[in-house]
Amino acid sequence: MNKSQQILNQLETQQLKRSLKAIGSRQGSQLELANGKNLYNFASNDYLGLSQHPLVLQSFEQAIKTYGAGSGSSRLLAGSFSPQHDLEDQLAELKQQQACLSFSSGYATAVGIIPALCDKDDIIIFDKLCHASLIDGIKLSGAKFKSYKHQNLDQLNSHLQWASQLRKPNSRLIIITESVFSMDGDICDLASIVSLKNQYQAELMLDEAHSIGIFGKTGMGLAHELNLCSDINYHIGTLSKSIGLSGGYLTCSKATKELLINKARSFIYSTAPPPAIAVAAQTSLSLISHCEGLSLRDKLWTNINYLTTQLGPIQNNISPTSAILPFFTKDGSAQQALAWQKELEKQGFWVPAIRYPTVGLNQSRLRISITTQHTRAILDSLIKALSSLN
Ligand SMILES: *Cc1c(COP(=O)(O)O)cnc(C)c1O
Repeated sequence: MNKSQQILNQLETQQLKRSLKAIGSRQGSQLELANGKNLYNFASNDYLGLSQHPLVLQSFEQAIKTYGAGSGSSRLLAGSFSPQHDLEDQLAELKQQQACLSFSSGYATAVGIIPALCDKDDIIIFDKLCHASLIDGIKLSGAKFKSYKHQNLDQLNSHLQWASQLRKPNSRLIIITESVFSMDGDICDLASIVSLKNQYQAELMLDEAHSIGIFGKTGMGLAHELNLCSDINYHIGTLSKSIGLSGGYLTCSKATKELLINKARSFIYSTAPPPAIAVAAQTSLSLISHCEGLSLRDKLWTNINYLTTQLGPIQNNISPTSAILPFFTKDGSAQQALAWQKELEKQGFWVPAIRYPTVGLNQSRLRISITTQHTRAILDSLIKALSSLN
């Protein structure tokens, strides 16, 4: 047996093998699979439904007519189009930061910026449940690092003490956390993290992938909502979730942006995303930050509150903290999570099982993503289906 087959067989035995579903329709409350089956979609990060918004689609279409389909090359060669510059200006302004640099994805943002900012003389302290893109960026950078137990600020404090002793003059000490954690849906205690950062003269990198569009009066995320924007040194986000397109960005100081244009390898050595995406993303951001965004957020939070309240009696500790709702199996096994996924699929729902290594070995769960597209009737039928699982 060759090595690939051996690895696949092992994954299969451990119930950890993944496969793809071919979808033949738009992203929405329902997905039509290529095999003709329809499933209610509880797996989308398109929380506000903006990937289907008529104005977003219209600006995308018009921009393709103006700029064509592809960008042709890296931003540093012939691929830096004015819509990308305009998008960066808009994001910097909305996020109340000096500057912004966009990337082809959120993943590319993290693996580009962390190694560009940090080397072996620097120290990074991060929440253990940080997204894979952040962890890969940290490892690639060669910096010294320590993770603290999820949301455990006492341990963050003691790691910062350790780092202060070790720290060389002029080196960086960076804390990295997410605002909304992508698999647990809980939110970090940003105010306390900011005060620790100040106490230890560290810097703070915040990944707002799942909070942009959802938190803050203008939908600009958790730091915005808590009035802590100016305390965040590196503000990472994605255009791929509630903004409804694809791509990533960092808002930061002007000097950091200049450094990244010169050093971030995922920015330099990769073709720029199609300029039309940057045009459509501006439309999306305008919607998010104005009254339409307010009413979409209202609708989303109404759905989040309804679902969490209704699920309260069948699952402990469920709370309306974000649009991500983990639904834990009784024993945390991959086997049970997969069995539940299968049962729900049979009943017409697509609620993915999340397993190792995305979450810890005995932390398998279903992950429910709530969007504005879900009607009360769809939510009620999901609640009924979840209640029948055992
Ligand atoms: C989804 C996600 C990313 C990656 O963003 P993409 O644009 O999908 O590559 C980064 N960080 C977090 C926390 C995420 O959830």
